[in-house]
This record gives sequence, structure tokens and C-alpha cells, in this order.
Amino acid sequence: MTTLTFDSLNPATGQVVGSYPKQAADAVHEAVSRAEEAARWWAGIGHQERRRRLLDYKAVVTRNLRELAQVVHDETGKPIGDATLEIVLTITHLDWAARNAHKVLRPRRVSTGMIGMNMAATLEYLPLGVVGVIGPWNYPVFTPMGSIAYALAAGNAVVFKPSELTPGVGVKLAELFAESVPEYPVLQTVTGLGETGAALAKDPRVKKIAFTGSYATAKRVMAACAENLTPLVAECGGKDAFIVDADADLDAAADACLWGAMSNAGQTCVGVERVYVVDQVYEAFVGKLTSMAKEVKAGEHYGPITMPGQLDIIKRHIDDAAKTGKTLVGGPESVRVPYVEPVIIEDVPEDSPAVREETFGPTITVRRTRDAQEALELANASAYGLAGTIFTKNSRRAMELARLMRSGMTAINSVISFAAIPSLPFGGVGESGFGRIHGADGLREFTRPKAISRQR
Ligand code: NAD
Repeated sequence: MTTLTFDSLNPATGQVVGSYPKQAADAVHEAVSRAEEAARWWAGIGHQERRRRLLDYKAVVTRNLRELAQVVHDETGKPIGDATLEIVLTITHLDWAARNAHKVLRPRRVSTGMIGMNMAATLEYLPLGVVGVIGPWNYPVFTPMGSIAYALAAGNAVVFKPSELTPGVGVKLAELFAESVPEYPVLQTVTGLGETGAALAKDPRVKKIAFTGSYATAKRVMAACAENLTPLVAECGGKDAFIVDADADLDAAADACLWGAMSNAGQTCVGVERVYVVDQVYEAFVGKLTSMAKEVKAGEHYGPITMPGQLDIIKRHIDDAAKTGKTLVGGPESVRVPYVEPVIIEDVPEDSPAVREETFGPTITVRRTRDAQEALELANASAYGLAGTIFTKNSRRAMELARLMRSGMTAINSVISFAAIPSLPFGGVGESGFGRIHGADGLREFTRPKAISRQR
């Protein structure tokens, strides 16, 4: 007999923390039907009323922060402090989307550029209707809300399919939304495995899919979207590089590098995984980094690896890198299921899995380079292109390197800061995906620009 429910587990303890329905195509179909009606109402109430409701939702999320953080902790195993930070950052985005949608998306008169013709033109950004959001487990509130908040603020109804590892968080987000918007199910959550997400992506009434997850799944989602030419935003994985130039503040760089690599046990799409350090400061930087890394403890500073299959990938990368490179911190023995202690390995060949593939664990490879130019070339040799970091005191060179870095986002003298800034677009190039969430671009992503010309 087919199981109609699935359990979510605390990865640290293996205990069942919830049981949820595996919603099949018919349930997804019904959710989209309800969402179509909700979308018409939500679009009709206008920007000011939506702003009021979304700010109210922000207040509801804030009031329920502890409870929500507890669900995130239970389902991912991450420390309560990290779960809380994730929700605080989400609230910042919710606030920005609510307050800025009417400005970014207001109808505007456009100069026609048609010489000698008496014509007026207007550009409007209209809601799409129903948006499907498919989310991952690593930041189960922050990541999907980076699409949901902007899609809602742009006037769309959302059907959200959370990861099967974190369904409880998804259910809670929609329950809280109904406190602010009780009239129609403007935000609904459907639970299930990949099939549930596939049913959403295949539904022709869904006018855009915002997917966040792995490159492999993104290709399957894109194929499902292709059936109806449904547009897609694909936020996929990364293999972010961290460049340390000769004039960098080495203490600040080591601190940022370690946090960027180890926070959330490395289960961060924009986590630092490859470090390139110019020759002059290599020994000094690596000395600081390794001595700091030895103080970091799994289970104390960060939680377990949430997805059991990910442990196999992390282990394969560490085992292989330990054979071909020189282990500086930890090693194969650092994998203590479900935890992984920090691992730093130097001189791993650039074609190794640990350098080429997304590891998604608290591991870094370190390499010495002639200069910043060589570091940039190595950084850019990845198939991924989500984000990256450059440490240097020379602001002109930092900007040049940032522009040349093949990534959607680059942080100078800090790490991962772009994700927290709601006004900046978030997204990658290459196998890291396409389309943008967050900021004005993120709002426009969930609209259809409507061009209207008028002969006078
Ligand atoms: P995943 O690809 O395994 O799953 C993501 C979601 O897709 C889940 O909800 C899953 O149920 C669903 N899914 C699976 N098969 C599907 C199908 N055929 N059709 C539709 N939906 C389907 O990813 P994950 O393991 O949950 O998340 C980790 C990945 O997400 C990493 O690669 C990470 O880098 C990436 N990520 C990217 C960002 C970003 O913003 N770029 C943010 C967080 C995580």
C-alpha cells in the first residue's frame, strides 16, 4: 500500500518531529484552483492594502519568532540562535518588499522616442496570477521567503512546496499568513516529495515557478516547466571562491572565511568552499585560518548535516582530497554522523570533486596563487557562479576584480553580506541558475511588464 504521509525528523536525534501528507497531483490541482481565486482578489485590493497586510504578516512572524525558530531547529538540527537569525533576516526582506513594491512597480509614462509622432506610452508591472515556490531545507524560512515575500508584494498568490525535510516550517509560514489575510488562501503550502513539486511545475495555471535547490533538480523542474512554457527562476548551488590579496587585513579575512565556510555546517549555497591566497601572505593567512578553525566544534558552533545523503558526498570529497592534497585541519575522521568537524585541505588538484563539485559541508580547500589575477582565473574556472569574496585594501582593484568575477554576487572585505541586503538582487550564473530574487529586480521578476501606447 502506498504511504500517504511522510515524517520529518530531527537530524541530530533521529526523532520524528512531524508527519505530513504526501500531496499528489489532485491535491496540488485543488490548491492551484483556490490560489487562482485568491490571486484575483489579492491583485484587486491594490498596493496600499497589500502593504498593510504584509506588514501585519511581518508583525505576526515577529511575534511567533520563538515558535518558528523552534520548528526550524527541530527539522534542520541547527542551533536556535542560527534559526532565529535566519528569521530575523527574513523579516527584513518582508519589510522591504512590503514597503517598496508600490514604488518599484508603479505605472510609469515612458518617452516613446518616435520622432514626429504624437504618441504616449505607459509601462505597467502587473501581477502574474499564481506563483509556485519550491524550496530547499538548508534555510527553510529565509530562502523560500526570498521569493514568497516578493511574489506576494507584487500582487500574486503563492503555492509553496517546502522541502520534504522541513515541511513543518512551510506549513507554519502559511498558517501565520492566514492570520493577516484570512479572506482568501493567498499563501498556501502543499507538502510532499519531489512529485508534489513536479505537479506544481507542470500545472499550466501556475504562471511562474521560483525554484531553489540543486542544479540536478533544477533541470527536471525546467523540463516540467517547458511543457507549458512556464517561466522559471532557478536558484541553484554554488562553489564560492574566497580570494585573499597581498594587502588584505588577514585577521578580518580569516575570520570571515571561517564564518563563511563553517556557519550552518557549510550547508549554505553561498558558503565559502574554495580559498585562493596570494603567495606573499599565504603562510600568515593559512596559519591564522587553521588555528581559528581548530577552535570550532561541530554540535557546539553549528549543527548536524541535515540531509543524510549529503554526508556521503561530504565524505567522498574529504576522502579524495585527503589523498591528493595536504590536510591542515581535520580529515576523513572529521565525519562523525550526523556531524562533520571543520576540514581544511591544501593543494587539492583543481579537477578534484572537492574543488569542482558543491560539497555543502564545513570543508575548505586552500591554494597558493602567484597573484590576485591567477586567483581570479581559478575562481572563475568553476561551472557554478553564485557568489564570491575578495579581501584587499585597494578599493579600485577590489571593484575591478569584483566585476571580473564570474558570479551573480561578490562581497568585498566581508562575506555573504549581499544575502542580507534586501535591496540587492540575489542569483547566480552558469550552473548556479538564472533569474533574480530580492530587491527591485526580485519584485519585477514576479510581474509581467505591460506596454500600452496611445495615439493622441
Ligand atoms: P533539491 O534539489 O534536492 O530539492 C529542492 C526542492 O525541489 C525540494 O522541495 C524537493 O522536494 C523539490 N523537488 C525534487 N524533485 C523535484 C521535481 N522533479 N520537480 C519539482 N520539485 C522537485 O535541493 P535541496 O537538497 O533541498 O537543497 C540544497 C541545494 O539547494 C543545494 O544545491 C544548495 O546550494 C541549493 N540552494 C540554493 C540557494 C540559492 O539561493 N541559490 C539557496 C539555498 C539552497
